[in-house]
Amino acid sequence: MLPENSLAWGRSKSCIRELAAYGAARKQEIGPERVFDFSIGNPSVPAPDCVSEAMRELLCLSPAELHGYTPAPGLMSLREAVSADLKSRFGAEIPAELIYVCCGAAAGLASCLRGLLLPGEEVIAFAPFFPEYRVFTEGAGGVLVPVPPDGKLLPDFAAFERALTEKTKAVIVNTPNNPSGVVLPRESLQRLGDILRHAQRRFGHSIYLISDEPYRELLYEGAPLWVPDYYENTLVCYSFSKSLSLPGERIGYVAVSPKAHESGDVFSALAGAARACGYVNAPSFMQRVVEKCLGRTADISLYKASRDLLYGGLTELGFDCAYPGGAFYLFVRSLEPDAKAFSEKAKKHELLLVPSDDFGLGGYVRAAYCVPPEMIRRSLPAFRALAEDYGL
Ligand code: PLP
Repeated sequence: MLPENSLAWGRSKSCIRELAAYGAARKQEIGPERVFDFSIGNPSVPAPDCVSEAMRELLCLSPAELHGYTPAPGLMSLREAVSADLKSRFGAEIPAELIYVCCGAAAGLASCLRGLLLPGEEVIAFAPFFPEYRVFTEGAGGVLVPVPPDGKLLPDFAAFERALTEKTKAVIVNTPNNPSGVVLPRESLQRLGDILRHAQRRFGHSIYLISDEPYRELLYEGAPLWVPDYYENTLVCYSFSKSLSLPGERIGYVAVSPKAHESGDVFSALAGAARACGYVNAPSFMQRVVEKCLGRTADISLYKASRDLLYGGLTELGFDCAYPGGAFYLFVRSLEPDAKAFSEKAKKHELLLVPSDDFGLGGYVRAAYCVPPEMIRRSLPAFRALAEDYGL
């Protein structure tokens, strides 16, 4: 007998990766320029120069220094640099001792959930949400409780209040959002904090907010907000995957707010959870690279131009799209109730759009526009043909 969950996760492919694999095969078949692949969130903007400069500089270090194990929570110099960076940007007081360097936001989220959850405890996620939240939650022995959005794809707070129970241990928030690109306004974070404080009093135990922030720097208007300012019991999961265009290098961190209830124990529990999964340390070379690149990002203005091109083009054709204030995803209302059927129809025009069902919400498709702008331009006639199929 093998564990049912592990078998199911291992055997099933994510619908995003399945569509990306289909796209790769299709490009071989008919030529890459004829396939409009909006399937996967792989940054197309190159990493900033500071990354390759840091790499070249670091190669002068001795191999033992460069490739040796680091302490499990990461190099103290990096943790201190992250702490100083958060202080200068947000005025946040996160001591280096509460910063855990990890292999991207995915590992951070999984470790936080394993560190926090007792069997059967509940984790609330606001739909639409990153599909792996379900795997990370169930892998930690918890139960994922989705909360539907309001008409603007922001959290429906009445539904959120109904979803909170004495079993709620954590809530995941993700802004800018994958898959919608929607950015949570300050008022939503304030409301979220108020509701959570009230729920803690009502149930008499801590409820932790996990702020999943791989897109924090990919914001097209205004400055990012610091989520722990709105709720004390917050753990921030950050990643350099998108901000520095390094998704394959697996590097990020968890910052535990010192104001979180039993913050030291929470940090130890997440470190222990990571250890129990055989995690030793985040890649040592990349730890040193990102330390030298803190505060820098890839050229986000290129994504903004693509956002304007795709959002403008599709709304002009009559598609109903959520306005993406950040990240690099456009969430488009399906032209028939079944988003999977709509995605299949789009394939006939060589448009690869991810159906929204795995994001916890039916009726939409996601277009990842982290692609060359000329592909977006070439794709517009295909979108027009798709709209015409539905008499739009
Ligand atoms: N959370 C969200 C919302 C994401 O979109 C992703 C990746 O696309 C992740 C977490 C995981 O990112 P990382 O590469 O940092 O593990």
